[in-house]
Amino acid sequence: MSHKISLSESTINIDMETSFSSIDGGFVNQFEQTLEEYYQQEKKIVALNSGTAAIHLALILSGVEEGDEVLCQSFTYVATVSPIIYQKAIPVFIDSENETWNMCPVQLELAIKDRIAKGRKPKAIIFVHSYGMPAKIDEIVAVSRKYKITLIEDAAEALGSEYKGKKCGTFGDFGILSFNNNKIVTTLGGGVLICKTEEEKQKAIFYATQARENVNYYQYKEIGFNYRMNSFAAFIGVSEFKKLADYLKGRLDINSFYKKHLRVFSNITLLKNPSIDFSSNHWLSCISIDEKSTKNTRDKLMDCFIQNNIECRFLWKPMHLQPVFKGYPYYGAEIAENLFNKGLCLPSGVNLSENDLERILSSIKKIL
Ligand SMILES: *Cc1c(COP(=O)(O)O)cnc(C)c1O
Repeated sequence: MSHKISLSESTINIDMETSFSSIDGGFVNQFEQTLEEYYQQEKKIVALNSGTAAIHLALILSGVEEGDEVLCQSFTYVATVSPIIYQKAIPVFIDSENETWNMCPVQLELAIKDRIAKGRKPKAIIFVHSYGMPAKIDEIVAVSRKYKITLIEDAAEALGSEYKGKKCGTFGDFGILSFNNNKIVTTLGGGVLICKTEEEKQKAIFYATQARENVNYYQYKEIGFNYRMNSFAAFIGVSEFKKLADYLKGRLDINSFYKKHLRVFSNITLLKNPSIDFSSNHWLSCISIDEKSTKNTRDKLMDCFIQNNIECRFLWKPMHLQPVFKGYPYYGAEIAENLFNKGLCLPSGVNLSENDLERILSSIKKIL
C-alpha cells in the first residue's frame, strides 16, 4: 500500500528514529494496548488528553444530562466535580469515613434514599481513591447495585493501588486514570477512560473526536469534544509505563520512612491501609494531627515547612465547602471537614533523597 497522503499534517521530529504524526494513531493505540494488557484484557481503554475529560465522557456515557443529580465524594480534587457542571447536572456531595478518608457508604445510601423520596433518583455515583487509598469498594459497589445507579470510579490517583488483590480503576461501570504531571505515571498531561465493552470505547472515541460522523466529508449530528490524547503524549506514556513498578516502589519506600519515624508522635496519624484488603500506592503520604483545638500545631508545621523551603499542602478542602459549589446538597457529618482542618500531605515524590527526608523529619521534630 502506498504512503498515506494527508490534507494538513504537522509532525514533530524528536530524534532520528521516532517521529510523531499529529493524526496517525500509532502510539495512541499502543498506549491503549499497554493499559489493556495491564488490566489483563478485561477492560477497554480510551486514551484522552486529561483525566477530567475522562470523567466528562464517563458521565456522558452514563446518560447524565441537564438537571440530573450525580452523587459525588466531597473530599477530592475539583476535577472530580467540574464535569458534572459541564453537563449542567447537579452534584450531591457525600462525606467521607474515617478509615480510608473516602466516600462513606452509609451516607451514600442515606443520600440515595432521601433523593428517591424527593422524587429525584440520582443518575450516577462518582467515588474517589484519594491519595491512592482504595475506598470501601465492596460496600459502595453493593449500594450502587442495590439501587441500580451507574458507578464511576475516579482512580486518577490510584494507579497501582489494589483492593482484595484487584486493581483500582476496574470496579466501577466506568473508571478513569490521570497521567498529569503530578501523578504516579505522567504523559505530561493525559488521562484514560476505562470501560467494559468495545461499543463503549468506540462511543467514547466518537465524542472525544468532535462527534464526527463516519463519512467522507465533515458531517455532525451531535456535539463532541477535542479530548483525544495526542501521539507524543502517548509515546511518553508507553515508555513511562514500563517504569511503573519502580515508581510504585519509590512511593512505598517514602511511606515506609514516614511510618517508621512518625510512630513516636502519638498525636500524628499517618493514613494507612485499614486492613489487608487494602493496598494503597501511597501516591501521597498524608497525616492528620490530633490536638486541643487551640494549639494550631498543624498550621505551625506548615509554616515551618514553608520557611525551610519544603512544599507541602493541606488535605483537600471538601467540595461542599467550596464557594463555587455553594448551595448544592450535602449528606454527612464533619469527617471531611475535620480532615481539612487537621491534615497535611507530606512531600512524596519519587525523587526525594535521604537528605530531603531527614530535612522534612527535622521540621516535624521541631514543631512536635
Ligand atoms: C488529577 C485528578 C483528576 C483529573 O485529572 P487531570 O488529568 O488533571 O485532568 C481527577 N480526579 C482526581 C482525584 C485527581 O487527582
